[in-house]
Amino acid sequence: MYMSQTSGAEQDLVPAGLAMESGVGAIPASAGRTKRRPARFDRRRRLATVEVSEGDMDLARATRAVAELLDALGVDRNSESVVDTPQRVARAYAELLTPEPFEATTFPNDEGYDELVVARSIPFSSLCEHHLLPFTGVAHVGYLPGDRLLGLSKLARVVGHFSRRLQIQERLTTQVADWLAAELRPKGVGVVLEAEHACMSLRGVRATGARTMTSALAGLVRDDERTRAEFFALVGCRS
Ligand SMILES: [Zn+2]
Repeated sequence: MYMSQTSGAEQDLVPAGLAMESGVGAIPASAGRTKRRPARFDRRRRLATVEVSEGDMDLARATRAVAELLDALGVDRNSESVVDTPQRVARAYAELLTPEPFEATTFPNDEGYDELVVARSIPFSSLCEHHLLPFTGVAHVGYLPGDRLLGLSKLARVVGHFSRRLQIQERLTTQVADWLAAELRPKGVGVVLEAEHACMSLRGVRATGARTMTSALAGLVRDDERTRAEFFALVGCRS
């Protein structure tokens, strides 16, 4: 599944004005680009896309469910070190599914900075929604400023925010790019994620060390050859 181009759902998230290109595997992925549809991104919902909120969480119920899962898997829960495991697992998942809120601090681009701003190798971890197993890696996030600049730490915060929920890497990549596009109205956005998926390395094909790469490009980072090449040079991928 990771060999194919992304299309479909991700394309729906593209903000107006910045058509998006998403790719999986070899990047960038301009071949097989799907027809772009009108944006459905809603600024009011930009941080409300959280699928699980703390208010929805029932830790006692989750604890019972984990106990039931262990029982169903034939695990003996009587040993001292396992007796509290259901509660620990419930708490751990609750934490992994609770995004940290953050304020987008932006500044006017008074001096007209017009080169790429790129944060490279931002570490992240998220949960694969197909297996509830983690995928971890690094994100490279960049934009070509328009009228606003974003506080630098926020580039990492955005990745962290969208990681803390059930995800697929393709969607996470696009959500980060969409958020930047909507929040900053930049001239271009580029996001590349490289991650190892526990569901691929620990089980199934057991492809330990295989990294899945995804990209989402918009505006001049996608359309202008020089900017695109510069972005990929800065993030250490070949264009
Ligand atoms: Zn998975």
